[in-house]
Amino acid sequence: MIQVESLSKTYELGGNTVHALDQVSMRVNDGEMVAITGPSGSGKSTLMHILGCLDTPDSGIYRLAGENVAGLSSDRLAEIRNQRIGFVFQTFNLLPRLSSQENVELPLLYAHRRDAKEQAAEALGIVGLADRMHHSPNQLSGGQRQRVAIARAIVTNPAMLLADEPTGNLDSKTGLEILELFQTLNAQGRTIVVVTHDTDVAQRSGRVIRILDGHIMDE
Ligand code: ADP
Repeated sequence: MIQVESLSKTYELGGNTVHALDQVSMRVNDGEMVAITGPSGSGKSTLMHILGCLDTPDSGIYRLAGENVAGLSSDRLAEIRNQRIGFVFQTFNLLPRLSSQENVELPLLYAHRRDAKEQAAEALGIVGLADRMHHSPNQLSGGQRQRVAIARAIVTNPAMLLADEPTGNLDSKTGLEILELFQTLNAQGRTIVVVTHDTDVAQRSGRVIRILDGHIMDE
């Protein structure tokens, strides 16, 4: 699913060169659930932005579902993001004026799909919120908001789910429920990459990739 070879990214800051990613190589197989962990400043966000096609590396290869996306234009990257990647964020990123169903429909509307309403309802059913379709985010708990966000991420049937600290804003019990939902989605065959500090998340993932100072420590 993901094949990364010798990926490097540097930032220039105040005359210093920061090697945020230094010749990083890794892969994620189809159907895996992988956690990427590491201390603050280790390069997790940089890697996540590249894996999510939000940023491009200075050098190296990134193949997503067979296509080298490292050198593509920003328009093509936007297309790939919409078609192949489902994002889940720490802060849910739902639109407050829209209902759960309308939030989940959005990626399908961007893709001009006519069956958006039905697909959104189905995705909300998968995450256990069939009875909350017409609620707005402020009528939902944190865990329910994250479920809506996960429904939005899976509604396009993407090749990969990419989650950035998905339990970071939740209490531990709710975080665990969200983690169990990711495990269920993974057991149904979805490929999941989670960037996290949370040791529970790492322990419940099939594999942990540790990153330190822009290097992969072990896999
Ligand atoms: P993490 O997500 O693990 O906290 P980051 O990927 O955000 O790590 O950062 C890796 C390194 O790159 C850090 O040393 C950070 O200060 C540096 N860095 C990240 N983004 C920028 C930027 N836009 N400009 C300069 N340095 C940056």
